[in-house]
Amino acid sequence: MKNFQTLCIHPLREQEETGMVTAPTLTSTAYNYLESEELRYPGFYSTFNQKRLGKIIANLESGSWGIAFSSGMAAITTAILSVVKADEHIVFSKDLYGGTWKFAEQELVKRNISFSYADNSLASFQQELKPNTKLFYLETPSNPLLRLVPLKEIATLAQTHGITTIVDNTFASPVNQRPIQFGIDIVVHSGTKYLGGHNDLPYGALVARNTDYQDAIFSSAKLYGGSLAPHECYLAERSIKTLALRVQRQNANAFKLAEYLHRHSLISRVYYPGLPTHEDHALALTQMTGFGGMLAFELDLPPNQYLTFLKSLKVIQPAVSLGGVESLICSPAATSHRAMSPTERLQLGIKDNLLRLSVGVEDANDLITDLRIAIRKASNKDLQ
Ligand SMILES: *Cc1c(COP(=O)(O)O)cnc(C)c1O
Repeated sequence: MKNFQTLCIHPLREQEETGMVTAPTLTSTAYNYLESEELRYPGFYSTFNQKRLGKIIANLESGSWGIAFSSGMAAITTAILSVVKADEHIVFSKDLYGGTWKFAEQELVKRNISFSYADNSLASFQQELKPNTKLFYLETPSNPLLRLVPLKEIATLAQTHGITTIVDNTFASPVNQRPIQFGIDIVVHSGTKYLGGHNDLPYGALVARNTDYQDAIFSSAKLYGGSLAPHECYLAERSIKTLALRVQRQNANAFKLAEYLHRHSLISRVYYPGLPTHEDHALALTQMTGFGGMLAFELDLPPNQYLTFLKSLKVIQPAVSLGGVESLICSPAATSHRAMSPTERLQLGIKDNLLRLSVGVEDANDLITDLRIAIRKASNKDLQ
């Protein structure tokens, strides 16, 4: 078994016959059906590069097979709708990515698929279990408070009841967490985030532990149509070469920023699984190999000073999305969670003064200086 860093550079065991060090980009969407096996998945334009990318990500996630999509949402919706049918029930972890939450609330109800939300504990999943529960769907670490769900316990509970498990592993990336190693069935990714890593490439991926759902997922994937074009596959594969390097740096930077913010007098709370004060720190030590590049904090400023803070940042950019080499900051209440009512947000623990920071690969001291100066400017009118 290769170490993860090496796997990122040499993800496929097969030897290229061509002698090329990097894979070619092949653009054909049509294949001679007398001579190729492409007929097996017609309509998904399952090109050489798309198949290759699926295999690469499957290897990174310790899965048996994988498939790439044109967005994270395409991977997520295809996965859910391949596993669950009308009159069945899903338990979601309650801190869901906004798009997944909306998909449940808006689309699953139309299909007579029922669902409920569990908090992040095993007991809560157990409590939400119904005779027709078919799927446990979870995110860990979650957005934006970085709460963790116990992967091994949930996988074991699911297996005893014949329930399928899906984990959205976007926030951790396979560098920091590989859910399949804990018995999870299917892992989905917004490749747009850490896997792509440069804030310039929308894509998604799905990896499965075994082949139980392979035909069903290929069939749905084809019908829903979210295939990824060869050039995007090439960019995705290129990005994976630096995945371990980037994420290790992001882990280290986030750790330093979390410690700095934790000590700052105008920050009332920092959410980062690497801090011993985080509710799920002990769990993080058992299922993550790194604490990730995402953190959140509550900034104690009068409400009208937030804009001054955000506008005073010179390195960190106020932008939604995450996982790239550039540090980005956003207010979940104003962006990812704005579709929810303030009450719904508060139930999730998302206050209006919460800021989410996706830490990039810049110099950590520059990031700390940027935050320090912007907080000072926003808190002290004389300096503005
Ligand atoms: C961004 C994101 C998604 C959706 O992915 P897209 O590529 O934007 O479709 C799903 N889950 C999580 C955790 C995300 O951050």
